[in-house]
This record gives sequence, structure tokens and C-alpha cells, in this order.
Amino acid sequence: MTAFLSIRNLHKSYHGNVAVQNVSLDIRKGEFVTFLGPSGSGKSTTLYVIAGLMEPTGGDVLVNGRTILDVPSNHRNIGMVFQKYTLFPNMTVRENIAFPLVVRKRPRDEIEARTNEMLRLVRMEQLAGRYPAQMSGGQQQRVAIARAMVYEPEILLMDEPLSALDKKLREEIQGEIKRVHERTGVTILYVTHDQEEALRLSDRIILFNTGRVEQIGTCTDLYTSPRSRFAGQFLGNSNFMPVEIMDAAAGTIRLPGGACVENVRICDSGDVDHPLLMMRPEDLTFRKAGDCACSFDGQVRSSYFLGNVMNYEIGIPGDYTLTMRVYIDGTEHPPQTGDRVSVGWLPHKAIVFR
Ligand code: ADP
Repeated sequence: MTAFLSIRNLHKSYHGNVAVQNVSLDIRKGEFVTFLGPSGSGKSTTLYVIAGLMEPTGGDVLVNGRTILDVPSNHRNIGMVFQKYTLFPNMTVRENIAFPLVVRKRPRDEIEARTNEMLRLVRMEQLAGRYPAQMSGGQQQRVAIARAMVYEPEILLMDEPLSALDKKLREEIQGEIKRVHERTGVTILYVTHDQEEALRLSDRIILFNTGRVEQIGTCTDLYTSPRSRFAGQFLGNSNFMPVEIMDAAAGTIRLPGGACVENVRICDSGDVDHPLLMMRPEDLTFRKAGDCACSFDGQVRSSYFLGNVMNYEIGIPGDYTLTMRVYIDGTEHPPQTGDRVSVGWLPHKAIVFR
């Protein structure tokens, strides 16, 4: 991969407390990359170091192979959008967007043309004369995006820009951000703790955990092939069950009830004390009782309807509960609470972390 932006062994401590350690990553020009992870995992700190708002304790940040650590923040050609809208309250939408060009003393006609282009890009032409207090949070954030993009930065950094908005507005602005990315080709680094948002927006996700990079991959990589229990648990829903590994090369495991199953993926995760089987809820299906070794007999504890799928909680021997998501096609009667059922699973889709 030809790296446009590279981070090499980044470290950052605050008064001796480590916030980011040994973070290295490469980002292509024009990529949409999301830093995903729980609160406090080092996402914003990494972003602020790239922006030049914070100095690292160690490591390097390179653009096109050259360090930018010696370049002041305002000369890095990087735009930023934060969670708080940070618009100037005494300026109109148009004046807010034009501001970065005004301070750079660009010619008047260029300022006018670029500002109009940005107003069009975020579809705010009709509200150009409004003040921030006269707009919704979503509209203010669109202006903030336009202002960050007006001087054509090569990189746009976004730190939880939608977390103050309600779900519907968030989805609307997510669509807007995707559009801005497609139209301009700007490289976007986006911080969020919201997995759905990460899946919806990103070309690749960088998963953070306690100041380190846990895993890097496309959305499907991370979802279908998590490399640790943490990754499997953080992205999507999962069922976990302790198992015994009988033959790691053949992927043979023994389930709590004693049955042995072959061809399960075994993954050296380093974050479990005991081997753990992970099964996604949508990879479980109802089967005829005693169909094969890859099934659990149990009883429906509860269920609820989610539109086109049913979510089931199934109690199985050993006091385990399996969550399943089953597509409902309307031709059969789905099992009800209290029914005895047999739940099948697919070894090649399951993973054992050890
Ligand atoms: P995230 O963006 O993933 O929520 P942060 O990068 O903000 O995580 O924080 C990483 C760690 O650094 C946390 O433990 C946080 O408490 C700490 N931290 C962040 N900013 C500061 C600061 N200005 N002073 C001291 N500690 C900080």
C-alpha cells in the first residue's frame, strides 16, 4: 500500500500516564478511516497529535514520507471538525465558512467562489444569512464541515462530530459526510465510539483498546475475522462459551456438554485466560433435534421482533444463554417462548480465541 499518512510508534503520556502506546498505521490518500474504540482508548489523543494540537512523547507522523511534527498546526493543511460545533456566534453561516480564507488573506473573488461552493456542498445555500443560534445542531455541524473544507485541506479530522445529535439527524449528517468524501476525495480520519457509525462510514476501521491498536481492517474483516475477544465483542453481538481445544491444527474442540466438533477457526488472541468459542447471533439456526454435533438443545426464554428478523434468547444446558437472530419469511410459525428447540451453528463461521 502506498502510504499517504503514516504514524510510526506513536507514544503519548500525560504526566506519566500512558494514553497512547506503540501506535503505527498507514493510510492511503482519499481513504475514509475510522478510529473506533471505547472511551479513553486513545483515539482523540492520536488525532490531536496528527492535527498538531498536541506533541507526542515519542514516535513520528509522516505525510508523503516526510515528518510533519516540525510543522505548526496551522500550516499542516489539515481541517478539523469537533463534537462541539465551535462556530463563531456573531458571524453568519457565510462569514463562518469564509473565515479561514479571510485570515489567510485570499483574494475576495476566490473567497466568494469557494464559500459558495462549500455552501452548495453541504446544501446550506438557503441558510447562508443565518446565525448559529438560529440553526439546529445538525445544520451547525454542516457549516462546521464546510468551514473545515473551505481551504481544501488534504486531510479532514473529525472527532465524534455527531455525538451531540439525535439518531435521525446523525444518520442524515452521516450521509452528508459520505457525500463530501465522495465529491472531494479528501482523506478523512474519523473518531467514534459508535460501531454502527464506523460500519456505515468507513473504508477501514482502526480498533483502539487501552491506548493500543487492537486490529486494523475493512468493516467485513473486523466483523467476520476478529482477532481477539475484545474485537469480537466490541463490533457486533456475540455469544461466548468456554471450550476445550483437543487438536488446534484440525480445529477440534470439545463443548461443555462433551460433544467434539472439527474445523473451527482457532485464533491466538492473547486476551483470554481460557479458550472461548465465539458465535455470531445470525450464524445460529433452528434445526431438527439431534441433527448433528453442531447443535445445542434448549428452550426459548424470550423473543422479540425486529422488523424482518426475530431475536431469541435460548437457554441451553450448563446455564448458558445463546442469542440468535433469525430471518422470518412468514411461511412458517416461528418458535415461541417456552418451546423446546435445537439450535445449530456453523463451525467454519465460529472462532475459538485462546
Ligand atoms: P478517547 O478519544 O479514545 O476517548 P483519549 O485519547 O481522549 O481517548 O484519552 C486517552 C487517555 O488519556 C484517557 O485515559 C484519558 O483520561 C487520558 N487523557 C486524555 N486527555 C488528557 C489530558 N489532557 N490530561 C490527562 N489525561 C488525558
